[in-house]
This record gives sequence, structure tokens and C-alpha cells, in this order.
Amino acid sequence: MDRRNQSLPDSQDLSKDRLTEYPSDEQWTAIIHNDTRYDDQFIYAVQTTGIFCRPSCKSKAPVKSNVRIFSNAKEALAAQFRPCKRCKPTGDRLPDQEWVEQIISYIENNFTETITLGHLADYCHGSPYHLQRTFKRVTGQTPVEFVQQKRIEYAKDKLIRTNLSISDI
Ligand SMILES: [Zn+2]
Repeated sequence: MDRRNQSLPDSQDLSKDRLTEYPSDEQWTAIIHNDTRYDDQFIYAVQTTGIFCRPSCKSKAPVKSNVRIFSNAKEALAAQFRPCKRCKPTGDRLPDQEWVEQIISYIENNFTETITLGHLADYCHGSPYHLQRTFKRVTGQTPVEFVQQKRIEYAKDKLIRTNLSISDI
């Protein structure tokens, strides 16, 4: 079963010419209408800013003559363009890492309180399931394991630095 979209460009050919394509009328229309249907098909870079975006990006429409089309983020990175912070065209890796950093900093500031997956999901805006999966993929631990580890480190540190008994901690 071949589910590849027929309009996908042939990414086999990475020669220089293909790395600097001008937008077709169809691609240009997708860019100015922020058309999400084209997000899987190409990304565009703007020569004047050095930044590349998904077609659906809500950033200000670029000047057409400055736009170059790439078939994917990898090609744009190879051509020294930087991913847009707004539409994050490099896929979900970057936002996931940022998200996990946000979750970690929440845990670090709150681990002495009760933290459940539900709290984290509410505070960090994601479903508990998705949050747990993403956290584990990026850090190798579940959020709950991470909280426990923080508590153990904290307790050890307190035991070493103070005269409190274990029951006080
Ligand atoms: Zn963008």
C-alpha cells in the first residue's frame, strides 16, 4: 500500500538546483493562505530573514521573490536557514524538548508539594497520556519517577547538610 502523496517532490535528488526552488503558483497560494494541507509537502525559506516556515505559518507574508522552496526542513537546515520559532517546521522534536524543560522546571519548583500527572497536565497544557509519553521519550523517565528522584536527592542533601532525623524530612 503506497500512501505517499503524489505531489510530494522527489527528495532523492539533493543537488544544488533543487535546494533553491522558487515557489510555484500553487505553493505561493498555500503560503499566503496559511494552508495547513501543504504542511507535509514543502517548507519555505525567506532569503532576507534566513528563516524557514511551514506553509501554514501565521507570520507576515514574505515578499515572493525572496521565497525559496525546500521539500523538507532538513534541506533548509542544510542550506543554512533557521527554523521559525512560531511554526517550528523542524517537526516535534524542538517543541517537545522545550515542553519537557518546562515540565522539569515546574517539578523542580514544586516537588515538595503533591505532584500528580494530572497536575502536570493541567499546568503544562497537555493530556496526561501525551505528557507522560513525551517526557519519557525525551528524558528516559516518567514524570513520576523524575519527581521521586528529585525528592530522594533533596532528602539526601538535607540529611547530609543538617542534623534532622529521617522522620523530620
Ligand atoms: Zn513560521
